[in-house]
Amino acid sequence: MEREFDLIVIGAGPGGYVAAIKAAKLGMRVAVLENREPGGTCLNRGCIPAKAMLHASGLYREMKEAERFGIFAENVSFDYGKILAYKEATSAQLREGVAQLIKANGAELIYGTGTIVSKGVVKAVTKDGEELLKAKNILIATGSRPLRLPIPGIELPGVVTSDELFQLTEAPERLLIIGGGVIGVEFATVFSALGTKVTIVEALPRILANLDKDFAQNLKLILKKRGVEIVTGARVKSLSAAETGGAGGLVCTFEEKEEEKQVSAQYVLSAVGRVPETAGLFGEGFSLSMERGRILVDENYQTSEEGIYAIGDVTGGIQLAHAASAQGVVVAESLAGHMPSVRTDLVPSCVYTEPEIASIGINEGEAKEQGIEVSCGKFMMGANGKSLISKEERGFIKVIADAKTGRVLGAQMMCARATDMIGEFGTAIANELTVGDMLLAMRAHPTYNEAVGEALEELAGGSIHSMPRKK
Ligand code: NAD
Repeated sequence: MEREFDLIVIGAGPGGYVAAIKAAKLGMRVAVLENREPGGTCLNRGCIPAKAMLHASGLYREMKEAERFGIFAENVSFDYGKILAYKEATSAQLREGVAQLIKANGAELIYGTGTIVSKGVVKAVTKDGEELLKAKNILIATGSRPLRLPIPGIELPGVVTSDELFQLTEAPERLLIIGGGVIGVEFATVFSALGTKVTIVEALPRILANLDKDFAQNLKLILKKRGVEIVTGARVKSLSAAETGGAGGLVCTFEEKEEEKQVSAQYVLSAVGRVPETAGLFGEGFSLSMERGRILVDENYQTSEEGIYAIGDVTGGIQLAHAASAQGVVVAESLAGHMPSVRTDLVPSCVYTEPEIASIGINEGEAKEQGIEVSCGKFMMGANGKSLISKEERGFIKVIADAKTGRVLGAQMMCARATDMIGEFGTAIANELTVGDMLLAMRAHPTYNEAVGEALEELAGGSIHSMPRKK
């Protein structure tokens, strides 16, 4: 059997399913192939389950610390199995929602593996057999999988990636995390809250190396206070099984300042990045231009083959769900002859630690590197009423603006609700607003959002609730 569509999407993660729905809304006949679960890594093994675990573990920590609000809760405890069930139910609800949305918009969700046989032809292998699908355009959105370090001992039982960590049926007593990137610090937040003794070993001189250095310094102190041991500038060399077994069943050997050291743990989480997923994607004799495993695309997300597009993690670069979704929307719009409705070059970065971290546009260091003269307004959350009420006063909001024009170029936040509030700066930067434009809007009191206004005021003569700077 052979069927024809306007667009075949391979992969129903946040890139693929969003592109499929958008294309269907714009009148295209769309098929979307998925060989695992709709929603991809984000809904099933990434953002959503991680944030569910952060929510549950954060609640447990808050309950234990509730005395400072005059609330006493005795014998506070958790049932790890029930946390997992809540996490799974959340993913399942969203996953079903995605499948229903695809269908309701008139696109066809095919549960099977898609292989590009030739330009415009995809072989779909499902539980019912094989089928050839044809379309003028194909969109690859197959995502990524965790990278496994090529070091001795990486295959030992108890050495896991984020995929398997979600499946553990118990909270580890001791967890060693290789990599102090986003996954590393988010899981350190979850498990330290649940009482696990966590150690992070990071190769670079600081954790969260891709973000503003103020974040790393503050987060390191906060995590240390919660009992997390953080070793930076340390390269992991090998993993081995300890003779004793039990909670210290694995031994990690790493080199720090040219000295060999060892830490033991019950489980080791390898969180050292993700690699593009292209397994089974190309039929015999068919290929696309690739570089170090990623599919190369031009500014319109077209691959080396006309009519074949690729978005999201499989193209390397910024591996974030919302970036993939935005790219999917833009590809669907361009295929339908529309102008892009979203800027794909302006991507917010969010880390769901406690406090949250969020950033968009450029930071001070990047401005300096790029030779842009900027001014910077910083407001400390210790002077924000809502933060004092909830005792979340540690943190800051920083705004970067062009020194001459006042145009807002970037923002970095480390505070409660940072991941929600960063959107205000996304809107401002995308619309080329100035500090003055942003200050025109009154902000409600008492809110965390008032601190955005105060950071902006710092750039416009000084904020009301900061001590005046010495002249
Ligand atoms: P990452 O690139 O953010 O961090 C990996 C870290 O591992 C780096 O700091 C690197 O220096 C370190 N590392 C590499 N080799 C090492 C070694 N041998 N020893 C010690 N350290 C080593 O990758 P990640 O944390 O695995 O996340 C993967 C992707 O998923 C990223 O693109 C991330 O942005 C994305 N993600 C995003 C979110 C979010 O937006 N909240 C959450 C989770 C994951």
